[in-house]
Amino acid sequence: MSSLFPALTGGPAGRTALRFGDRSLTYAELAAAAGSLAGRLPAGGGRVAVWATPTLETAVAVVAALQAGVPVVPLNPKSGEKELGHILSDSAPAVVLTEAGVELPPPLGALARVDVDVHGTGRLPDDHASDEDPALIVYTSGTTGPPKGAVIPRRAIASTLDALADAWQWTQDDVLVHGLPLFHVHGLVLGVLGPLRRGGTVRHLGRFSTEGVARELSEGATMLFGVPTMYHRIAQTLPGDPGLAKALGRARLLVSGSAALPVHDHERITAATGQRVIERYGMTETLMNTSVRADGEPRAGTVGVPLPGVELRLVEEDGAPITSYDGETVGEIQVRGPNLFTEYLNRPDATAAAFTADGWFRTGDMAVREPDGYVRIVGRKATDLIKSGGYKIGAGEIENALLEHPGVREAAVTGEPDADLGERIVAWVVPADPQGPPSESELAEHVARRLAPHKRPRVVRYLDSLPRNDMGKIMKRALPS
Ligand code: ATP
Ligand code: MG
Repeated sequence: MSSLFPALTGGPAGRTALRFGDRSLTYAELAAAAGSLAGRLPAGGGRVAVWATPTLETAVAVVAALQAGVPVVPLNPKSGEKELGHILSDSAPAVVLTEAGVELPPPLGALARVDVDVHGTGRLPDDHASDEDPALIVYTSGTTGPPKGAVIPRRAIASTLDALADAWQWTQDDVLVHGLPLFHVHGLVLGVLGPLRRGGTVRHLGRFSTEGVARELSEGATMLFGVPTMYHRIAQTLPGDPGLAKALGRARLLVSGSAALPVHDHERITAATGQRVIERYGMTETLMNTSVRADGEPRAGTVGVPLPGVELRLVEEDGAPITSYDGETVGEIQVRGPNLFTEYLNRPDATAAAFTADGWFRTGDMAVREPDGYVRIVGRKATDLIKSGGYKIGAGEIENALLEHPGVREAAVTGEPDADLGERIVAWVVPADPQGPPSESELAEHVARRLAPHKRPRVVRYLDSLPRNDMGKIMKRALPS
């Protein structure tokens, strides 16, 4: 396979490839730094861990290793020692690549350390790796259980990024504003490798802030990638910040993913800026599956259509694929295509269980499809599908309805055993005003009026905050029992 990054050697050498804070590298400088580092990587098939802080060093480390054909295990610097220990013993990297001067926690003590020099000069090695060679081992977010290491081949990265380029009309003229961490697919594959594969530019904020987004979009950035918690912050800030509204109005593309974007936040952003937010749906194991297209009809609450090359079907509980889409029948999303991972590292049991006999990957996500093909995710099979009074009810639409109540700041919906109903709907609510939260009956009526009486929560529990992971995803398994 040819290089994942043709622009490193054959592209606009003087163009800015990466900017993190006030430090940046042109394509020529990135090629030189990655070339220098590639020469210091272990030869002979080992893996390397990357201490994935949101820095130039992380980006240079990943590019160098991919170019040298060495698989990368990105590490979350905020992981606890137990999780780090698990990931290191599972993936067994030989060395860790890091910024100089950083103190690494004890689980990394046994690894050889290579400090990344972003000003190094060397020649990029020729890229001899083949399509199926592993490029990344990325651990899933751990939302539903302990993280699993997904082995991601080079072909999956190339195909997903090229499919997104088609869907989003993504070119070398695009400048991305990035405020996400770099140890997951969203921040690393889409947010760093994506612009580099296109020959465009990444501007990383270090830490997300609405001021940073407004500044970069006013200074020529064209795209923003974010998770729903960021768009929520934006929606909250917009009414008092005309500068932010103006800056967002200039963007070519606002993209959300990693979890469902509440419809209420999407609508508030559209009302204040005239922009829609494009939602895409992906996973560590599959990279990207669907997206609303840049040239497609915007529709809040949907994740769009399958990307080019991705086959997608909905399957009912008995394993039968749904053949005619009516926007109502719920099935599990299964996908097939060049975007898929190879296996879970050291987990042949989990790998086998994740695929059907004919090679479809079971995502564990439940959805309906509109007659014209748009996919609407209703939630995860494991935590978001509530069987109550003979109905199958998705948590997502109830969460969306609750968030439209002015007294609700955050909401999560779960099911719990009930003698009469099978399961009853429980709403976990963070009130906007803790002194005067909306009552249980008021919220039940609010949902019943918007959706249907059987979708109303039977119990409301009030919390100060919802348990979330580093990507801002709600960890339903960590809700108090
Ligand atoms: P684990 O697999 O360890 O439990 P995880 O599934 O959260 O964690 P990721 O691979 O990071 O780990 O996340 C993929 C999941 O995120 C998808 O299966 C889906 O449930 C959710 N997701 C991603 N994008 C969207 C979206 N646009 N709308 C709704 N859900 C989304
Ligand atoms: Mg998952």
